Amino acid sequence: MLEVRLELECSICGAQHFRIPTRDEDRDIVVCARCHSVKCRADDLEWRMAQASAMRREALLAS
Ligand SMILES: [Zn+2]
Repeated sequence: MLEVRLELECSICGAQHFRIPTRDEDRDIVVCARCHSVKCRADDLEWRMAQASAMRREALLAS
């Protein structure tokens, strides 16, 4: 598991650190690093990260 800080908040405890699996067999599970609740599916996470980077780009363009 890889622990990373993301621009997401755990819906349970509000933490922004998550554990992302590095092995194929559990690639779909992302868990909160603090309370260990299952946050979301990896594909949903990718979508959220894509949204976050798009928002950053727009913020840069607007400034
Ligand atoms: Zn949590």
